[in-house]
Amino acid sequence: MKLEQLKELIRDVSDFPKPGILFKDITPLLAHARGMHACTEALATIVHKANAEELVGIESRGFIFAAAIAAVEQMPLQLVRKPGKLPYAKVGVDYDLEYGTDRVELHSDAIVAGRRYAIIDDLLATGGTAAATAKLVESQGGVVACAAFVIELSELPGRARLENHNVHALISY
Ligand code: AMP
Repeated sequence: MKLEQLKELIRDVSDFPKPGILFKDITPLLAHARGMHACTEALATIVHKANAEELVGIESRGFIFAAAIAAVEQMPLQLVRKPGKLPYAKVGVDYDLEYGTDRVELHSDAIVAGRRYAIIDDLLATGGTAAATAKLVESQGGVVACAAFVIELSELPGRARLENHNVHALISY
């Protein structure tokens, strides 16, 4: 399956979750076994080319893709979550949204200094979440080997926000 064909498995939903947002719905991709297989293989190739040793999945749709790679490639997976969701001792980074701020957290023992991590999420939009995740991994001494996404919204400044990082997306709009 060609990666461009993955676009047929992404559904556009207008005005979700707010008016003016064109939401990229990945549920048809999840329901398509061959599509998910192609997607997981392509992400795994990026991760290996970057010599990543572990995966960092971003809540919540990033978990799906990161867990698929982790299982198939037998790689450790660490979870980045929104505030208050992780049960154990945490470290976090705050970041700015259009209105207000948000925060990403990791368990304090998730990152080993000097180890190489691949950040995985479903979609790169403004890049705020992924940039905060990269900062968090680096604050713990981890090396961000790459940031890999299924979808990139290329009109938004996601790549610019992740400057100096190795950024990949399977499909771009
Ligand atoms: P950002 O921090 O702006 O790059 O946003 C990335 C996060 O928000 C990802 O975890 C996406 O799942 C979600 N997201 C942002 N914009 C969209 C969109 N248009 N469609 C689907 N998910 C989105």
